[in-house]
Amino acid sequence: MTLLLAGIRTQVLFAHDAEVSLNAAAALVNTGRGGREDLPDQDALDGFIAHWRWTGDRGRDQAELDGVHELRSRLARVWEMTKDEAAEFVNAELRRGSALPQLVRHDGWDYHLHATPPEAPLASRMAVDAAMAFADVIRSDQMERLRVCAADDCDDVLVDLSKNRSRRFCSLTCANRVNVAAYRHRRATVE
Ligand SMILES: [Zn+2]
Ligand SMILES: [Zn+2]
Repeated sequence: MTLLLAGIRTQVLFAHDAEVSLNAAAALVNTGRGGREDLPDQDALDGFIAHWRWTGDRGRDQAELDGVHELRSRLARVWEMTKDEAAEFVNAELRRGSALPQLVRHDGWDYHLHATPPEAPLASRMAVDAAMAFADVIRSDQMERLRVCAADDCDDVLVDLSKNRSRRFCSLTCANRVNVAAYRHRRATVE
């Protein structure tokens, strides 16, 4: 029984919805990294929301966009936090969003947790989703999976969800760029 459970534990890191929420939180943080602003207006926010398949009501006004930008700054700090600081942050966000976890099934998704009603403000729903996912990371003592991209010229964040904790880059683009540079450097040294 113990062996079987140990086997299962290595297969699944976090629940599927938690992993999606972690990647979405990192993606949100990265829309404002490196001097970029990838969420300048409602159209950009629409694209982001559609990509990460957030459901629920939308304000489509400046207040909503401001709320998302504020949340982005709050979330970015989690990547620099200790476990204790992150736990405090998660608790504060769950209180702020009046989180009440409920299992729901919709739009072809099997059971997952929603802790805010669909009419709650978008930024509040995004904040609680992220907080619930970070709660999983903290409870399983996996804070070191929250990383900054290893490429010298990139400060995008990532969540390493790989089984062997081997992910170092925010994207394939960064991984390829660094690998090509390393290859050129090796060739230059040999020739
Ligand atoms: Zn859902
Ligand atoms: Zn990168």
